[in-house]
Amino acid sequence: MKISDSILNLLFPEGIVCIGCNAEMSVPSEYGLCGECSVYKNTRFCRICGRGLVGEGEYCNDCQKDKRYFDAARAPLIYEGLSRTLIHRFKIGNLKYLAKYLARFMYDAYSKEDWQPDLMTFVPIGARNLKSRGFNQSQLLALELSKLNGIKVKDLLKKVTDKEDFSKQGRKEREAGIKDSVEASEKLHKEDILLIDDVLTTGVTAEECAKVLKKAGANKVFVLTFATSECKPVLY
Ligand SMILES: [Zn+2]
Ligand SMILES: [Zn+2]
Repeated sequence: MKISDSILNLLFPEGIVCIGCNAEMSVPSEYGLCGECSVYKNTRFCRICGRGLVGEGEYCNDCQKDKRYFDAARAPLIYEGLSRTLIHRFKIGNLKYLAKYLARFMYDAYSKEDWQPDLMTFVPIGARNLKSRGFNQSQLLALELSKLNGIKVKDLLKKVTDKEDFSKQGRKEREAGIKDSVEASEKLHKEDILLIDDVLTTGVTAEECAKVLKKAGANKVFVLTFATSECKPVLY
């Protein structure tokens, strides 16, 4: 254990303090949350991209218009309120131990699907981000999930261009920014792959990774993230 990890453990003792509000808990919680803290569950979602649906229908507007490169994407939570705070603390606040609890939520969504992945992989991050953050958040989530579902994690993708952060931009800008920025690190042989990321918003990053994995020889690509956005219906 590194010194920084042991200090974090002193500040946030695992299983005793709520990961949402830091309140002390008399009994450790599986998801790390006390009875007072709640997350926005993703219960009604697009059958393809898994984003939360507001209003009628089985599919979001994007999935109705275009075919996705991935076969299906799912996320247990909506990226709002506490789930957003937790992702922020995990990535920016460097609280790596949260991966275990975030993966516990992801495992719930995974267990509801009839997926039989041969391998798990994760969305790669650029060298600059890796250097400043010190870890790839999606890789940590994949490794924790692997302890729950028993599927091996392999480093199948690499980031070849290190462009700026596109997270705040629109779909078109993100598409242009992410295009050709990821490469496969090995040939695949018709495996079904489970791709892990922290958050799915437009789905553009997951699609680019899925496209690359399929080009490299993957059969199906499923995507699992901790949180996802909610699609408001388009008003005509
Ligand atoms: Zn709490
Ligand atoms: Zn969709």
